[in-house]
Amino acid sequence: MLSEEVTRQPPGSLIPASSGVSMEVGEEEQAEEELDSSVDTAREVMLKSRVPGTEDWVPPPCQIILTVHPPVKRDIAVVAQNFFCAGCGTPIQPKFVKRLRYCEYLGKYFCDRCHSSAESCIPARILLMWDFRKYQVSDFSKWLLDSIWHQPIFNLLSGHHSLYAKVKELDRVKDIQEQLFHIKKLLKTCRFADSVLKEFEQVPSHLTDECHMFSMDDFLRTKKGLLAPLLKDILRASLAHVDSCELCQGKGFICEFCQSTTVIFPFQTMTCRRCAGCRACFHKQCFQSSRCPRCARIIARRQHSESLTGT
Ligand SMILES: [Zn+2]
Ligand SMILES: [Zn+2]
Ligand SMILES: [Zn+2]
Ligand SMILES: [Zn+2]
Repeated sequence: MLSEEVTRQPPGSLIPASSGVSMEVGEEEQAEEELDSSVDTAREVMLKSRVPGTEDWVPPPCQIILTVHPPVKRDIAVVAQNFFCAGCGTPIQPKFVKRLRYCEYLGKYFCDRCHSSAESCIPARILLMWDFRKYQVSDFSKWLLDSIWHQPIFNLLSGHHSLYAKVKELDRVKDIQEQLFHIKKLLKTCRFADSVLKEFEQVPSHLTDECHMFSMDDFLRTKKGLLAPLLKDILRASLAHVDSCELCQGKGFICEFCQSTTVIFPFQTMTCRRCAGCRACFHKQCFQSSRCPRCARIIARRQHSESLTGT
């Protein structure tokens, strides 16, 4: 029976409770190792304290919870927990209900062996309210939240996109990040760009290899106004390289609509865009997707060769 309990919640089940979050498996091996061993320890505690034969109690989920728990009166919440500690399953006598401690992350009450009044930021409060205050959490939650602190598991593209509109500083970070994402791709193809690519190592690689992926640490650094200036510095160094590098300049585009001689690049996300059909780069204001000149040429060429082969 006990082994069944273990397999029901494998360590790999550390996945979000709602959309918008994904966990990169295998990226941070060390973190995962710590995670595994701690899960085992937590589970051992749960199993030892578990009351045999009770079906009314389930251990805390190993998931990232992204909802803020509405305030519920202690007595009502403990009844809902069937008078068990939410961490170890120890039955609580009604006269000791007052001693239970609330975990803001799980929205449940815990005995003092499972809750040492540790404090943590709560992911849902950051994502929904940009609230970085620390709240009391159970030891299990504290361990879980500490272990994911640096992991980029919050994808603002698939959920909580409105956070950009709510938080100007985060919107700024997103704009710079988008440019860095494109310019890094270009720099990686340049054999003279080693030193400028070193600059990118000042920030975690997920911030420039992907867009919209953040860790709680990234959010906090954004809130403190530390992230945007750092990203901006990297962007400045990258632009200086591209401006002065013949190899990189050779990979730019000429806008076929206006034929301006100024070379343009996909990383100029504010002023330029790529055609979804042919991937060529144009000024945003010049581009009309219905008649991309390059796509038109490609189609004409195809029709020509088809007419030659008689198909
Ligand atoms: Zn307990
Ligand atoms: Zn270059
Ligand atoms: Zn143009
Ligand atoms: Zn095109």
